[in-house]
Amino acid sequence: MPLYEYQCRQCGDQFEILQRMSVTAEEIAGLECPQCGTSNPKKTLSVFSGQTSSPSLNMAADCGIPSG
Ligand SMILES: [Zn+2]
Repeated sequence: MPLYEYQCRQCGDQFEILQRMSVTAEEIAGLECPQCGTSNPKKTLSVFSGQTSSPSLNMAADCGIPSG
């Protein structure tokens, strides 16, 4: 379950909410700030819980070409 971070447009408070990946804009608009209760917060960033590092593009291109 991805963790989404939102910021209140009214008081600027940031709060995190666990939501499914296919969250709609209407559902986001229906969210309310836990501080002042203002709806439609601004989405700041999304963090996946249980994030894994992908072993891709980890090879450094550092092979020296032997000049003959
Ligand atoms: Zn607020």
